[in-house]
Amino acid sequence: MMLSSLHTTMSSVKTDIVVFGATGFTGRLITRYLSTHPQFTQHLFSFAIAARSQSKLHTLVQELDLPPNINTLQLDVTDHKSVEAAVKSARVVINTVGPYWTWGTPVVKACANNGIHYVDLTGEDMWIREIINKFDYLATKTGAVIINSCGYDSVPSDASAFLSNKTLKAHGPYDVGTSMTAHRVRGGISGGTLSTMMTAIEDVPKEKMQESIDYSLSPVTGPALPRFQFLYTQSIPGESTVPGGFFFMQPTNRKLVQRTFGLLEMEVKNAEAPDTPVEAIRNARRERYGPAFAYDEFLVMPSRLSAVIFSAVFAIGFGMLAYITPIRWIVKKYMRQPGSGPSEERATDWIDRDMAKGFFSATNHTISTSTPPVHVKSVFKGDRDPGYALTAIMISESALSLLLPPVSSTASQPSPSSSAKSLTLPEGLPVLARKGGVLTPMSALGDVLLTRLVDTGRFSIESHVVGEGASEETRKNQTHRSSIFSMAPSSDKASFRATLASAENIIILSGAGLSAASGIPTYRNADNSLWNNFDPLAYAVPEAFKDDPIGVWKFYHRRRAEYLLAKPNNAHRALAVLAHPPALARIAPHHKAPRVLHVTQNVDALALGVLESLPDQGQGGPSEAEGDVPPPAKDSLIEMHGDIFVTRCTACQHVQRSYTPALASALAELEKNSASDDGAADAAGGPAITLAQLPKCGGDAWAGSNRYGRCGGLLRPEVVWFGEVPPLMGEIARRMSKCDLLLVVGTSSTVQPAAGFAAQVKKNGGTVAVFNLGRSTGDEEADYMFLGPCDETLPDLLEVEKEMAQLWPQSQPV
Ligand SMILES: [Zn+2]
Repeated sequence: MMLSSLHTTMSSVKTDIVVFGATGFTGRLITRYLSTHPQFTQHLFSFAIAARSQSKLHTLVQELDLPPNINTLQLDVTDHKSVEAAVKSARVVINTVGPYWTWGTPVVKACANNGIHYVDLTGEDMWIREIINKFDYLATKTGAVIINSCGYDSVPSDASAFLSNKTLKAHGPYDVGTSMTAHRVRGGISGGTLSTMMTAIEDVPKEKMQESIDYSLSPVTGPALPRFQFLYTQSIPGESTVPGGFFFMQPTNRKLVQRTFGLLEMEVKNAEAPDTPVEAIRNARRERYGPAFAYDEFLVMPSRLSAVIFSAVFAIGFGMLAYITPIRWIVKKYMRQPGSGPSEERATDWIDRDMAKGFFSATNHTISTSTPPVHVKSVFKGDRDPGYALTAIMISESALSLLLPPVSSTASQPSPSSSAKSLTLPEGLPVLARKGGVLTPMSALGDVLLTRLVDTGRFSIESHVVGEGASEETRKNQTHRSSIFSMAPSSDKASFRATLASAENIIILSGAGLSAASGIPTYRNADNSLWNNFDPLAYAVPEAFKDDPIGVWKFYHRRRAEYLLAKPNNAHRALAVLAHPPALARIAPHHKAPRVLHVTQNVDALALGVLESLPDQGQGGPSEAEGDVPPPAKDSLIEMHGDIFVTRCTACQHVQRSYTPALASALAELEKNSASDDGAADAAGGPAITLAQLPKCGGDAWAGSNRYGRCGGLLRPEVVWFGEVPPLMGEIARRMSKCDLLLVVGTSSTVQPAAGFAAQVKKNGGTVAVFNLGRSTGDEEADYMFLGPCDETLPDLLEVEKEMAQLWPQSQPV
C-alpha cells in the first residue's frame, strides 16, 4: 500500500485530458477532433489516448498521423488498478467506454475518489441514478465534476431549456411553467447507442428500471410531467403548429433536464441559509428555472398521421424487444458492435463525406407561469451528423470547458505552459461546477459550453421572446442580448479544404499581417523604434509631396532600406504555390481552369519576389479568353496600394522598378550621416538635400534630354497615397465579381477594402475565409476563420508544404 501510493506520487506530470476508449468509433472522432483543435495546436492543453489494445492505439496514431506529444495509455476498465492509474494521470477524463452500466462505474469511482473531472456520453439513466447515489456526495468532497450525457444525449435538450430560461430571466423575474423542445435530426445511430438500448432492456435489474421515473435523477420533485403521447404538438405564437411523435431519447433527456432544474432549485434552497452573500442568493434565483418547471420533448414529423404511426411503431417495437426474447436475439445478432460506426470504412474518411450530411435542431418553446404568459423561443442547431461528429465535438468541448476559457471570450490568451496551470477551474463556470458533484452539462458548464460550441462554427444558437409578451423593442433587445451566440465562422480544416478543392476563381486579399513574419514594420506597430513619435500618415498624402518632396523622399528612402532587408516568409510562399498552375490543379481539381488572383495591400514587393522565384509557368498556366495574356506574375498579383520599389516620373509618367538601395546619391549620403539620428522623427531635417538632388527621371546622370523615361522630371514613389484611387480597381472589381472563394489574409475582414470585397463575394454566393492573428468584431460574417500567424496557418490549410519544400528547399527550417 505504502509502495503503491509512493509510486503514484512519483508518476508526476498530469495530462489535461485522457480519452478512455480512444480506439472506438466515437473515441477516434474525439481523438481526431482534439488533435486538430486550435487550442491544442497552440499548446494550451495536452491530451493522451487510452484503450485496451496497445496495438490498436498504435494503429490509431498512424491512421490519424497524431503528433508525438499525444501519449498512449494501455487501459483495462475491468482492472481497478489500471483504471486508477489512468484516471490519476488526467485532469479531465473523457469516457467513451460503454455500455456504462457494465463498464462505467469503476471509472467514475476513481474520478470521484481522486477529485478528477469526468465527462461521458451515457444515455443510461438507470446508471446515472446509480452513480448519483454512490458518488455525488463523495465528488462534492473531492471537488470532482462528474458530467454525464455530454453528447447528442442530452446536450441539445439541456441547452435548449437552459437558453429559454436565460432569455426569460433577462426579460423579467419570471419562472418557467412548461418547456417543450421539438427535435429534428438526420444522422446515424452508433453501435454504442444501440447497445445502450439493449442493455437497458436486458442487463439492468428490473427493480432498477422501476425506479427510473420522471424525477429519478433530480434532487427535488417538481410538477407531474406529461405521459407518453401518440401525438405531440408545438405551437409557438406567430408560427404554424408543428406535429411530432414520441422521441426515443426522451426518457433520458427529460430526466436529465429535470436534474438540471432540480440542482438549480437546490441552489436556491441552499442560498436561503443564513449568512449567504446577497450576490449568491441573487445568482441562484436568476439561474433557477422555477418550481413549476415541466419539460417535455418530441421528434418532429411531417404530419399528424405520420407522428401517430411513428409513436405506435415505437411503442410496439419496444414492447416486442422487451418481452419477446427471440426477437431480441435477432436484433442483437444484426446489431452493430459497440465501437463500430455505420460504415466499414475508416472513420476519418467517412466523417468528411457522409457525416457532413447530418444535422440536428432543437427548437424550444418555453412559457412563463405569469399572467399573461411570456413566450420564449430558442433554437439550438448543429451542422453535421449529431450521433457521431457533433457528439465528438460536444464531449470534447465539455471537457475543455473544465480546463480553459473559450477562445472567443479571452482577450489575452492563457499561458501556454501546461505545468503552470493550477487545478482550479477556469472563470465563468456556474457555481455548481465549483462545488463538484454529479452534474449535468448545463448545470456544470452553462454559457461556457455554449460559447465553446458556437466558437466551433458547427453550432448556432438563437433565443428570444416571441408573441404579445414582448414589445418590438424588447424583442430586439433579447435578440441582441443573445447575439454572442450568433453563428460563428468555422475553423474546420477538412471542410475548408473541400471548399478550396471545388473553387474556380480564388482571390487572396492580403494585408500587413502577411508580412509580419518578415519583419516589416506596420504603421501601427508602436514597438518599432523607427516609427516612434512619428506620424507616417503625414507623408502618405499627395499634399505632403507637393509641400515637402524632400521630407517625403527621406521618409520613403528609409522605408525602402528597411524593406530591402526583409525576406519573404512561408505565408508568401504558400500563397505563391497556390498561384503555381501545377499545384493549383492539384489543390483545386474540380474545375478545368481554376484561377488565383492575389490582391495585396502591402507595398513591400515580397509577394511579387516569391512569385518571380517560381519556375517558368509556361503555357500550362490558366489563360484568359480575351487573348492578351499578361506575364504570369502580373496576372496573378495586383499590388493595389502600389510598390515601394517602383517610381513614377511626375513629368513623363514613366514607371520603373529598382532595388538600388539609394535612388539618388544624395540619399545615400543621408544614410551615412544619419546613422545615429533617431529614425524618421526628423525626416524633414538632417543633412541638407536640394530638390535637384532628389531621384529624377534618367537618374543622377541625367544630362538635359527630355526623352520619355529620361526627361529629368521629379520621381515619386509609386505607392497609393490617401485620397488617390488605386489604379487597378476596375480589374479587381471584374475579377471579384467572379470570385467564389475569398481568402482574407493578415487583415481583418471588417476594414475596407476587405469588408466591401467580402460582402460582394458573399452576396454572389461565394465563401470567405479569414487568416489572421486575432479576431475582430464583424469577422463572424466570414465562413471560415483560422487564427494564428499566417506563415503557420496557410501552409497547413492549403496543404502546400511539400511543394514549398521542393520549390524553395533552402528556405525550409532544418
Ligand atoms: Zn520622365
